[in-house]
Amino acid sequence: MVTQYFRITDPETQREELAQAAAILREGGLLGIPTETVYGLGANGLNTDAVNRIFLAKGRPQDNPLILHIPGPRWLSRYCRNVPPAAYELAERFWPGPLTMILRRRANVPNAVTAGLDTVGVRCPDHPVTLAIIREAGVPVAAPSGNLSGRPSPTCARHMAEDMDGRIDGIVDGGPCQVGVESTILDLTTPIPRLLRPGGLPLEALEEVLGEVAVDKAVTAPLSAGEKPRAPGMKYRHYAPKAPVTVVTGDSRRTARYIRERLGERTGVICFDEYREDFPGCVVEDIGSVADKAEQARRVFDALRAFDDTDVTAIFAQCPGDGGLGLAVANRLKKAAGFQIVDLGEGA
Ligand code: AMP
Ligand code: MG
Repeated sequence: MVTQYFRITDPETQREELAQAAAILREGGLLGIPTETVYGLGANGLNTDAVNRIFLAKGRPQDNPLILHIPGPRWLSRYCRNVPPAAYELAERFWPGPLTMILRRRANVPNAVTAGLDTVGVRCPDHPVTLAIIREAGVPVAAPSGNLSGRPSPTCARHMAEDMDGRIDGIVDGGPCQVGVESTILDLTTPIPRLLRPGGLPLEALEEVLGEVAVDKAVTAPLSAGEKPRAPGMKYRHYAPKAPVTVVTGDSRRTARYIRERLGERTGVICFDEYREDFPGCVVEDIGSVADKAEQARRVFDALRAFDDTDVTAIFAQCPGDGGLGLAVANRLKKAAGFQIVDLGEGA
């Protein structure tokens, strides 16, 4: 298959490109789409065959459901039932934006989208190009992240092409992703709303609106054998470069020292900018300064991807604390490490 490329910077004036991209979706094709979180692999969310093709192109396990992307809260009641007032309140506050809500689904949502669950994940992405494409297509767009299954999520069109060129009909380049980690997933079908995946919207922002939010255990710890995850995606190894990753948590000076003492011949290091010069002879990927978690979120997947073009045999990663976007960055690093974590604690 030949993949068609679109570079859309202004959906208002580039009507022709927009129409072509939307036609791919409407006609049942697969389209790489930019969002503020990561690039997605989209298909017409009402077309079972098209949705099934997403799983084939990614090599994604069939039991891992997709997110339905809609242009705004007015579409919620088309695909969801028993929508609680909290969902509208959250949509009002945080959409378009990096929040996916899990709600009861209506029967018109294909099983292929929800992996047979009676719930569906919905989100309104904050990207003018993709919003315009969805409106033009006139259908909800089912999409997971646009990487091959198990790989780090794509945060620019080049990553998307690395994984999907020749496998899908088109890729829309809408520039680099402004958030860089996937959406926060919140289950609103439980008595107390439950965070299933930390992401681009911090937990603290949800707590401000909702009061109590339960945090699923799988956010910070691996599932034990036979345990059933609440977000099916949680059980799969994720985001992983080819070389094994060890995450080192705790005070950044201590983690830098710990890593420095363990450098081998072909070691890769993910570090904060302040420590960039501390690992001579290593392949170093810096992800932003210690205090700038938004920058760390933007750069973490690119850093994880970069090692695959090198010959490193082991990777160490410094890791932010859990406040704000740190929870999402730490979660992605820990998942990339298969939860191989060394905790040095806080303090000097
Ligand atoms: P991705 O953004 O590539 O990780 O794909 C979508 C994510 O949403 C996966 O982790 C899914 O497990 C999760 N998801 C989608 N629908 C549901 C649902 N109904 N219940 C729980 N998790 C869901
Ligand atoms: Mg994904």
